[in-house]
Amino acid sequence: MRIGFGYDSHRFAEGRRLVLGGVEFPGEPGLEGHSDADALLHSVIDALLGAAALGDIGSHFPDGDPKWRNADSAMMLKAVVAELASAGFSIGNIDATVVCERPKLSPKIGAIRERLAELLEIPVSAVSVKGKTNERMDAIGAGTGLAAYAVALVFDAKGTA
Ligand code: MG
Repeated sequence: MRIGFGYDSHRFAEGRRLVLGGVEFPGEPGLEGHSDADALLHSVIDALLGAAALGDIGSHFPDGDPKWRNADSAMMLKAVVAELASAGFSIGNIDATVVCERPKLSPKIGAIRERLAELLEIPVSAVSVKGKTNERMDAIGAGTGLAAYAVALVFDAKGTA
């Protein structure tokens, strides 16, 4: 078994749609970023790459590359899941936390878990997503942006280290 950790943060920005965990939040301010700025998927990508010691999201999807401009992060995650599989890894479970003052995540947690499970090709019961506020502290508490943290457990081909 191997564990990986991922973190990401993005600023809110005008004129962008909000997508978290591959699920759209209509009417909510979006996030600034080269891709669709789905911070939750980005943290999951980094957790998976970290568990497999296969680099990070920046090395796989450089933000200077026009190919990834406004890219659907779900496609990036699918590419990473395929890369792990071809390197002999299988995914055990994911646990993630999104920190923001808004939007309220709870109404969409079920949809996000289902979307993540579909993208990761694992059961919904192996995907946990939690929403937290920052109790109005610091930049995230002031509503400047949001952050996401994720851990991933993966198995290698032998099911051991
Ligand atoms: Mg990001």
